[in-house]
Amino acid sequence: MTEPHSRVAIVTGAGRGIGAAVAQRLAADGFAVGLLDLDEAAVKQGAEDIAAGGGKAIGVGLDVSNTEQVEAAVQKVADELGPPTVLVNNAGITRDNLIFKMTDQDWDSVLGVHLKGSFLMTRAVQKHMTAQKWGRIVNLSSTSALGNRGQVNYSAAKAGMQGFTKTLAIELGKFGVTANAIAPGFIATEMTKATADRVGVSWEDFKAGAAQQIPVARVGQPEDIAHTVSFLVSEGAGFVSGQVIYVAGGPKD
Ligand code: NAP
Repeated sequence: MTEPHSRVAIVTGAGRGIGAAVAQRLAADGFAVGLLDLDEAAVKQGAEDIAAGGGKAIGVGLDVSNTEQVEAAVQKVADELGPPTVLVNNAGITRDNLIFKMTDQDWDSVLGVHLKGSFLMTRAVQKHMTAQKWGRIVNLSSTSALGNRGQVNYSAAKAGMQGFTKTLAIELGKFGVTANAIAPGFIATEMTKATADRVGVSWEDFKAGAAQQIPVARVGQPEDIAHTVSFLVSEGAGFVSGQVIYVAGGPKD
């Protein structure tokens, strides 16, 4: 049966962690996947791994906060895989510090990658979605959106992602495009491991300490987020839009 729309997904920050797991999951779900990341070698390897498993994927290096690089990467995916109809804005960084020690650069970098990066990516991809009258946008927020010591930049960005998502849902809904946000709690990745290193706690102790605070009594894995993305981009999720789903093993982290 011919699909009514192309099944091509773009995942940013797909070089490792949550983004890599999301890319693998979407490939397993039958999407051709454009893996985008600062780390070009990592996404090229990720695309090869997907191809080795029978899927279709390409890896493209870019900085999501750079307009020209975003436009070029989206065009490359459209040319090589077909017009993208799924976008997962996942690329992210942390530059944690208490506000009295936070630099302009810490603020600009974090807002630049999460908010400007998601804006640039979405602006570039939405024309392919609206042309096909079908699309799914998933933005990565965080439980930090509710406030987290040492993260005024990151929590502002992740709260911003929620407003961004709701407005996309309102503007693009009539074109068959949904937009939702996932707000993960503690997920075991390089990002949380870097926090353990910074506060001088062993990775195993850091995870065990986090698990004690989480109702389901374990930390999250990248696959927990990939599973939620898989649902949100599915055909049947077309009436779910403008929502923030906390995937945190409980009502909060
Ligand atoms: P991660 O392991 O640090 O991976 C993030 C990826 O994004 C890296 O591959 C990184 O590339 C890439 N990236 C960073 N800046 C970029 C840019 N300007 N352009 C393109 N790619 C860029 O992080 P993660 O834990 O998987 O997090 C993924 C997302 O989930 C982030 O938005 C994060 O804020 C969010 N999140 C994570 C958690 C958690 O507990 N882990 C909780 C809530 C929300 P490089 O390796 O080259 O730097």
